[in-house]
Amino acid sequence: MLPWHRKTQNYGNYWCMDKKNYPYQIFFYEKEGDAYSCKDKFPITCTDKTIFTKDTFVDYIQKALAQINTLNIGISFEYKGYQSTDKDDLAFIMKDGINAVVYYYNYKWGGLSAPFSKTEFGIKLDLINNARKEWFIGCLRHEMTHALGFAHKDDDYKGILKQPVINGLDGLGEFSADTIHGIKTIYDMESKFTVNGKVDMNGFEEAQIFIYNSKTKNILYQSPIDAKGYWEFRLDYPIKSFNMLAIARKDEIYWFGKLKKDRILGRMMKGYEFNELKLSEYSNDLKTIKDKTGVTL
Ligand SMILES: [Zn+2]
Repeated sequence: MLPWHRKTQNYGNYWCMDKKNYPYQIFFYEKEGDAYSCKDKFPITCTDKTIFTKDTFVDYIQKALAQINTLNIGISFEYKGYQSTDKDDLAFIMKDGINAVVYYYNYKWGGLSAPFSKTEFGIKLDLINNARKEWFIGCLRHEMTHALGFAHKDDDYKGILKQPVINGLDGLGEFSADTIHGIKTIYDMESKFTVNGKVDMNGFEEAQIFIYNSKTKNILYQSPIDAKGYWEFRLDYPIKSFNMLAIARKDEIYWFGKLKKDRILGRMMKGYEFNELKLSEYSNDLKTIKDKTGVTL
């Protein structure tokens, strides 16, 4: 995970929404003659003959947001019904007292949102007539995670992460472990394990750290390293064998480093504090880092 405001904020004060109940309404944008209008688009028939109605979409949203309620962040979402609207900017009028999830007809995108306000949220969602249920739920959860304060995982390093977005969805709609780690970090919730430490920042920018599975070399978790060199992971699951890769940029050069030996995060442990991690190697390109470390970035 990457907090949206990580470049200006540090651990302990990352931007987050106020902890409270958020009543929300769902809107279908319907305006005669507008290309983005959902009018007359229902029912949507999918390629595999699945039929989507407005009620289907409303049901997906309720299920996806109800799942966030179960995380007990202190934030809860309460469904307050659905209706049509012909206001095309309804989703992003903040301070209007309406938390709006608005559907538009748009075949190009999945949705749009950002951490606009600490006390309200707005999300635009797009109807596409060739997508699956999991796609729609994934889009909603992706946009909701933006509203909660997260950026795209590959914002600093295009091409370094296979996962281009916040991973709000595993398979059929479960939250991914990395997303939960992120929520626990910026909403200051306790986790079973804490892995943290400091690195010497020495003029580094866009510093990030990854926990990866040392057998498969797949990245499991991502965190920013803040301006003070501090980094942290709030984890809930043990890891059989892991290592960590820290990466940063300075004067167009990539600096990186990993732990000297692999570690285990055992079930009975509290976590780790690693202060020996150093960004002591460098490279002109990301490919060299992939080749040298073997990490599937
Ligand atoms: Zn996005």
